[in-house]
Amino acid sequence: MKIRGSAADRNIECSASLVEPDVVVDEDSPLARLGSARHEALSYIPLGMEPPVQEIADRDFVSADDIWLAVHIGRQAWEKYGHLFPDAKTEVRLVGTVTQGTADVLSVSEGIAALDWKTGYGTAQHPNQLLSYVAAAVDSYGWPEGADTVLGVEVHTAHQEANVHHFSKAHVEGFVERAHRSIVEAHLKKPPHNPGSWCGFCPRKHECGAYPAWLRLNSALLASVEPTAISREQLGELFDRSKVIAQALAEYNRLLDIELAHGDIHLPDGSVLTRKPVEKSVLDASVVGDVLADEFDLNFDDIMSCMKVTKSALNDLLGSKAPDRMKGKWQKKALQIIDDNGGVTKRREYHKKLVKA
Ligand code: SF4
Repeated sequence: MKIRGSAADRNIECSASLVEPDVVVDEDSPLARLGSARHEALSYIPLGMEPPVQEIADRDFVSADDIWLAVHIGRQAWEKYGHLFPDAKTEVRLVGTVTQGTADVLSVSEGIAALDWKTGYGTAQHPNQLLSYVAAAVDSYGWPEGADTVLGVEVHTAHQEANVHHFSKAHVEGFVERAHRSIVEAHLKKPPHNPGSWCGFCPRKHECGAYPAWLRLNSALLASVEPTAISREQLGELFDRSKVIAQALAEYNRLLDIELAHGDIHLPDGSVLTRKPVEKSVLDASVVGDVLADEFDLNFDDIMSCMKVTKSALNDLLGSKAPDRMKGKWQKKALQIIDDNGGVTKRREYHKKLVKA
């Protein structure tokens, strides 16, 4: 039994997650297929090869454009961080004393460096995954002579972000110790369960009683939050848990929408859950412009002041008109020119983020 790189956060936090599920549920989904397809395409970049994007997309029934976007960002990241991987090999299978997994990119000739492509929309950092790869690499190749640290790089293609982690020897050894403890606990007759946000992709989720109990407890806690009865720290502690509840709620609403599409739901107390259409209007800019100018004598600036172009609509338009493989470049260039001409108004929003200790 070993800590699996892609499940390292969960395996370290919850020893019970290392135990094989009694029943394996095949969770094939379009999103999972797109993730694998993007990873496969990205694996060509460190080798200086052109990824066969269309071939991968056709085989996996996913959109080639969606893969190209990740490839475009992946190339930019590789231009910036590729020098950290002097003898880059991709899809490297690693088996160490307590960890195993497949590193997206590994280099071991001048120090040890592992890279992990993150192609989904999650924003959390996953140093445990990278630690599991570098720990296995250290087991195979030894600690690099004269090096203070080994490297782990995460590239989030959806957010165009990268995190570079420098792991000291003590850091890696501490991780190995925690991993070892988790494995020992997983062999106990009753391995301890520790539910948390990491339960989401656990292969034992469907048979685990601890996870629904934890969800119930946190739902009750969140539903009873009162401004006068909760401290700042307690409020902050609920943040990570609230995201899990929000995901569960989104899933509930998705299922409910599917059921309601088949008809009303009659409840035992006689009430009926139904859905009502709400009409939303979208105005055609060309008609609006003509009417306001001809009928109301408004000038061009007046009309433009009430019109907005959404970035996603603009990107869709440019994407559909761009020459082959130029989609990303066109979108970036157009936005840059529009910005240079004062056509972008920026407003600051604050996104809550939990930075782990
Ligand atoms: S669902 Fe959560 S609590 Fe249960 S085994 Fe998996 S990680 Fe542990």
